[in-house]
Order: sequence, then C-alpha cells, then structure tokens
Amino acid sequence: MANFRYVIVGGGMAGAAAAKGIREADPTGPIAIIGREPDPPYRRPHLSKALWKGRPEEQVWIKLPPGVEVVLGREVTRLDTQRKVVIDDQGAETGYEALLLATGGRTRRLPFGGDGVLYYRTFQDYKRLRGQTAQGSRFAVIGGGFIGSEIAAALAMNGSQVSMVFPDPGIGSNVYPAGLSAFVTSYYREKGVDVLAGRSVAGLEQRNGAWALKLRDEAAGRDEELVVDHVVAGVGIAPETALAEAAGIALDNGIAVDRFLRTSAPGVFAAGDAASFLNPALGRRIRVEHEDNANTMGRIAGLNMAGRETPYDHLPFFYSDLFDLGYEAVGNLSSRLETVEQWEEPNRKGVIYYLDGGRVAGVLLWDVWGKVAAARELVSSAGPFSRAEIERSRPISPD
Ligand SMILES: Cc1cc2nc3c(=O)[nH]c(=O)nc-3n(C[C@H](O)[C@H](O)[C@H](O)COP(=O)(O)OP(=O)(O)OC[C@H]3O[C@@H](n4cnc5c(N)ncnc54)[C@H](O)[C@@H]3O)c2cc1C
Repeated sequence: MANFRYVIVGGGMAGAAAAKGIREADPTGPIAIIGREPDPPYRRPHLSKALWKGRPEEQVWIKLPPGVEVVLGREVTRLDTQRKVVIDDQGAETGYEALLLATGGRTRRLPFGGDGVLYYRTFQDYKRLRGQTAQGSRFAVIGGGFIGSEIAAALAMNGSQVSMVFPDPGIGSNVYPAGLSAFVTSYYREKGVDVLAGRSVAGLEQRNGAWALKLRDEAAGRDEELVVDHVVAGVGIAPETALAEAAGIALDNGIAVDRFLRTSAPGVFAAGDAASFLNPALGRRIRVEHEDNANTMGRIAGLNMAGRETPYDHLPFFYSDLFDLGYEAVGNLSSRLETVEQWEEPNRKGVIYYLDGGRVAGVLLWDVWGKVAAARELVSSAGPFSRAEIERSRPISPD
C-alpha cells in the first residue's frame, strides 16, 4: 500500500490549490492527488471562454508544486476513516495522514437523450464539443444559466448556428433583474442566437443522424420541435458527496466543514464546489460553485492540512463573459431579492445591489472593474441599508 502524508481526492481546481497551500507550509511532505479525469488539473473556466477566443490549450494546465504524485483516471470509491485509507476503483489502497475531499460537482442529467447529450464540465467535454463543431453546425444548448449562456456565446462566436432552450423568461433570469435579463436575451438574438425562452425540453430522439428535441411552451400551451446536429446541456451540478456520505461524514448541502475546513472525520478536510461552509459576511452556511472559492478555499485547506489554523472567512467573487459583455459579482445574487440598479449607461455599465433583510446580500458589477473589494466590504457591513439610502449614497461608483 502506498502512503502519503497528504492525499487529495479530486484533481480539479481546489485540489491543485490545496497542493500549493500544503507546499507553502510544508516544503517536503509527500502529496498524492487522485483524480477521476484522464487530465491533470486545469483551469475549468477556460473551457467556455478563453479556448473559444483563440487562447492555446497549453494555457489551461495548472502548474503544480514539486513533490506531488498525480494519479489520473482513478476514482476513489471508498474511504476508511478508521484506517486512514482511500481505496480506488482498481482496488488500490492509499494511506494518508491528512485527506482533502475536493470532489467538485456532478452534472445534473435530463431523463432522456443518454450520451447523445453533452453535459459540459470537463476538458474531454471541450474536446468532444470542438470535434462536433466540425461535424455539423446546428447546436441546441439546453439551459439559460452560467454554463448555457457561455457555451451558446462560444459556439456562436465560432460560426455555429445556436438555439438556446430553457424554461425561464430570459437568459440569466435567476440572477439578473428582469430588465437586464431581457436586455441580455435580446443581445444574444442580435448576435444570431435563436433564444427559445419559456420552453422546456420534454423529449429527445435521434432521427436521420440528427437530433429532434420536443419542446413544450407552457405559456402558449403548445408543443414545438427543434432539429439540430448536436445537443449540449448546462443544467446545473449537484455536489459530489457520495464518498463522504458513505464514510459517515456529515453533509449539509454539500460536505459540511467548519471554519478551518475540517469535516466531521478526524484528519479529513473538504474544499471547493463540494463543500459547504459558514460564511461570516452572509451569516449563513453556503456552498459556492465558482473559481475564486475553489482556489482560495483549496489553498487554505492545504495550509490547514499541513498544521496551520487559518480560518476560511473569505467572501468569494465570481465572473462571467457573454460575448463582449462581462461582470464580476460578490455574495448572493438572486433575482428574487429586492434589487437597486444604478446605471452609468443602461444595461451596459452599472452596479446592482441585492438587498435582503436590511443588508446588502450581493453586488453585481456589470462592466465595472476593480471594485470587488468595495463590494465585499459592503456585503460584510451590518447595515441596515434601505433602497432610499443606496440610491442617495451610491456606495460603489461605476467609474
Ligand atoms: C465550463 C465551465 C466554466 C466555468 N466558468 C466559471 C467562471 O467564469 N467563473 C467562475 O467563477 N467559475 C466558473 N466555473 C466554475 C469553476 O470552474 C468551479 O467552481 C471549480 O472548477 C470548482 O473546483 P473544484 O476543484 O471544487 O471542482 P472541480 O474543478 O469540478 O474538480 C473536481 C474533480 O474531482 C474529481 N472527482 C470527483 N470525485 C472523485 C473521486 N471519487 N475520485 C477521484 N476524483 C474525483 C472530478 O472528476 C473532478 O476532476 C466554470 C465551470 C465550468 C464547468
């Protein structure tokens, strides 16, 4: 049996950041990363942005520190917290002193279509999608959230004919206030994307080498059909918690960790998309599916695995690019919250505040850059804040 001082399950962004964090605190302790994917750690956001804008593939790989053994194409299927051992799908056992679960998320799947639908998440998915663009130009993108909107833009920018299908009234309508969602939706249409909002996909069948999607327009009480060459879906992820759950580790909308990113099992830590943590600024337990969280939380988990006691009090930011629109954001961006919009140029440049119980719960910086720290400070402030006060004081200037 191989033994390592540090074992990381999951060769993604949090896992790579943890290896770097361990090395900051322990220059020599042996580290193993065991990853299910055939590829070493890479920058996942590049899969829907940079790689479609001509950036070379070499730029996706994350450089690991020295002394890290990376075992690829192996899924850890069992964790024995008593013996401090993980067991992979080939029966190989690896012993640890400190273990990190950085298992990310598993894509949600539709109840039909099987492997004909590409659930976009990995570098191999990117390669498959690239291959598909050379074999037929009509794509259906299912989902109007982060992944769906980025993939639709990436494909359209590369000459494909794209139809976007989703049940909500507009692109990003769970996040953007109604007016901004309507603007983004019409912006996509101007860019040539056929946006089929308000439609659910009710079925999918292969016909003469193409795919026929059965669409249901509930509002109009009508069924429609869409025929394409390829189908891509971005319909969300569920945290990958099976391994932790089977080992009896406490879950709470993900693998539950304390301030120091320790799970309920001794010597076992968790970080990234899979882990839920108590965020002091928001005053509640959250799970975040974004890069800054994976990198920062992963690093701190690594430091703590190597004996430090660094609390994870960070309020992560996130970002997205949609054609030539772009934003950064902090906190809870739910369009169900009350919003205050301050535009320098309507729908082009401005700041949107999301209010919840007298606090600023989130800030959307729409084409406004370099203001993440100010947004974090505002979300961390106790308030109380009211719409009138924010309209008067304009706490974050778009300039
Ligand atoms: C296409 C795309 C675009 C994105 N764009 C943005 C963006 O613009 N901005 C942003 O902030 N965030 C973005 N994200 C989100 C960001 O990439 C994730 O939050 C981040 O990758 C999470 O890192 P992680 O290490 O927790 O999980 P992951 O990167 O998903 O890595 C987890 C790894 O663990 C492996 N694994 C799981 N279980 C096991 C097991 N039992 N044994 C072995 N290995 C296992 C998985 O196969 C995977 O490789 C994007 C995500 C995608 C998919």
